[in-house]
This record gives sequence, structure tokens and C-alpha cells, in this order.
Amino acid sequence: MNFNDITDMLRDPDSEAWLLKKADETRREYCGEDIHVRGIIEFSNICKKNCLYCGLRAKNSEVRRYRLTEEEIVAAAEAAASMDIRTVVLQSGEDDYFTVDKLASIVRAVKKAGVAVTLSAGEKTREEYAALKAAGADRYLLRFETSDPDLFAMLKPDSSFENRFNCLKWLKELGFQVGSGIMVGLPGQSYETIARDLLLFRDLDLDMIGVGPFIPHPDTPLGPTPRGNIDLTLKVVALTRLLTLNAHIPATTAMGTIDRLGRQKALQCGANVIMPNVGPLKYRKDYSIYPDKICVNDSAEHCSGCVSRLIESLGRKRAKGFGHSLKKS
Ligand code: SAH
Ligand code: SF4
Repeated sequence: MNFNDITDMLRDPDSEAWLLKKADETRREYCGEDIHVRGIIEFSNICKKNCLYCGLRAKNSEVRRYRLTEEEIVAAAEAAASMDIRTVVLQSGEDDYFTVDKLASIVRAVKKAGVAVTLSAGEKTREEYAALKAAGADRYLLRFETSDPDLFAMLKPDSSFENRFNCLKWLKELGFQVGSGIMVGLPGQSYETIARDLLLFRDLDLDMIGVGPFIPHPDTPLGPTPRGNIDLTLKVVALTRLLTLNAHIPATTAMGTIDRLGRQKALQCGANVIMPNVGPLKYRKDYSIYPDKICVNDSAEHCSGCVSRLIESLGRKRAKGFGHSLKKS
């Protein structure tokens, strides 16, 4: 599949049914019927950056900011492990309070619960990533958000496009299983941009790829911008599967937020991962990257049961084990 094939398929509404079916078959062939459950713990909503799209941006004074303690994080991870969730994703804003020493201590403590650890805490130096790897972190998620350098510079005024890709390169060199991804429906993003995003997913040989719709947050500069479209996002998930074959692809919470059945639909067109929130209920609402996020009032136990039923309703299986990268096995 080349650049023109991809843009043609993105543009043509009649390609959707074929594309989604083909991606589901490819997922079945390369990943099987297992759906991997990753428990996400949003451990700090404090962020020094000002990404234009994100509700947690430093300049948004409407957010009630919080940080979890190491004890709260470990308790959430242990509770997840007791529900047979064997991967914990620790996500946060870029919060300098969590020095690499503090994060390393958290990783070591969380690993004792018998889970794989994925970090998603933004850009760090190579040395910092190395220390986190040495502490036992298995995976790292860092979306490049868009392959268009001008759009990136506009959306992330305090990050550099080049550094974001250096981070991904370092993570890979250090032996992390590496995830990246994009938002679909960003202002100024074209079908050509998305085609380049997709080809980069393939060329970077990523272990995990997260794709979700852009959802405008009213307290950000992009508040008045339209949201991403579910059908286009599903087509991007499907094309991601066709181009990467065995990458782990989540049915993102953002998909479930713009469409009641968004996650189910994603799992039927290439996705093979679901990420229920297992963090403490009292802070859920405050991790407001985008508005109207689903499941903010549901306990970890409720979410775990809910994803099990969702998986069953699709006639699939909840995976056992850590669910490491299929590229390494
Ligand atoms: N601070 C870290 C991790 C937290 S943000 C980082 O930025 O990498 C996690 C992801 O949320 C981002 O990568 C982005 O793709 C997504 N996100 C942020 N704002 C969003 C919005 N308004 N709509 C949809 N997704 C959003
Ligand atoms: Fe901070 Fe990440 Fe939101 Fe950017 S996307 S403002 S880095 S939490």
C-alpha cells in the first residue's frame, strides 16, 4: 500500500466497509482473538506544557490539580492485579515533581504487584528513560501526534518535533516496547497528513499504536474547533492494522467518548487492546484531557467487569498473561 492508495481510501466513503472487514481479518490472522486489558492509572494531572488541544495544559486554571502518592498508585496497581489485569499504564502530565528517582521508585514498587508497567509521562532525556528502564519499566507510550512538522509546532508550542522523534528512537534503543500514535481530526490535518502518519507507524516499527479522535476541550484555544469523526477514525485504525500487522492497537477511550459503541467498533476493525481506568475514583473527573470522558464515575471493579462483558459480547477472549509486544515473541 503506497501513499496514494492510502489517501484514496481515506477520501472514499465507499471504501469503509471493505477496509474495516479486511482489518478485522488481518487482526484475527496476526493477533488472534485475544483482547489485552491494560489498567490505566492517571497519576498526576499537573503539566508544565501548553499543548493547544489538551485540557490539562498549564494555562488552564479551571482544572483542579492533583497528584497521587506512591502508596495510592501501588494500591491501584495491586487492585488491578487482583482483577487479573496484568499491565498497568502510568500516565500523567509533564509534572517535574515526579523526578526520575521518584518514578523509578514507583515503577519498582508497582512491579512487585506482578504486572507489566507501561509509562506515559512525556518527553525526558535519554538518561532518564534509561533509569526508568533499569527500574523495570517495560513499555513507554509517546504519541508523535502528527507527522506534519508545522502542525506539530503550532499544536505543541513548547515541544520540538525533532526531540519527540529522538525520544521515540532512544526508547527503542533502550529496549522499551514503544507505543506512539496520533489524533484524528486535528485542525489543519489533511488526508495526506494522515497517510504520512500511517506510513510512519509502519516505518518506526512500533509495538503499540494509539489512534483516537481529537475532542475539543472548551477551556483550550481549540475549544471552537470541530471534533474528529468516528468513521474516519475507524478507517485510520483499520489502515494502521493493515500496515503494521501485529502491533498492539487499543480501542481508545476517546473513541468510546464520541460514539457509545466506539470501542466495540474499533475492536472489530483492527484493535486488540482495551484500557479501563483503574485509578482512584475521586480524581477521575479531574484528568480532563478532553470533555465528557466515559467511565469517570465507575470504579475499577465496575470497569473490569464491564470490559469483560464487552469482550464477551464480541465473541472474543480476554487475554491471559502480560500481553507483551507481538513483535518480540
Ligand atoms: N503528557 C503525556 C501523556 C498524557 S496526554 C503526553 O502528552 O504525551 C495523552 C494523550 O492524550 C496525548 O498523547 C494526546 O494524543 C491525547 N489527547 C490530548 N488532548 C486530547 C484531546 N483534546 N482529544 C483527544 N485526545 C487528546
Ligand atoms: Fe501536558 Fe500531555 Fe496535555 Fe500536552 S498533551 S498539555 S504534555 S498532558
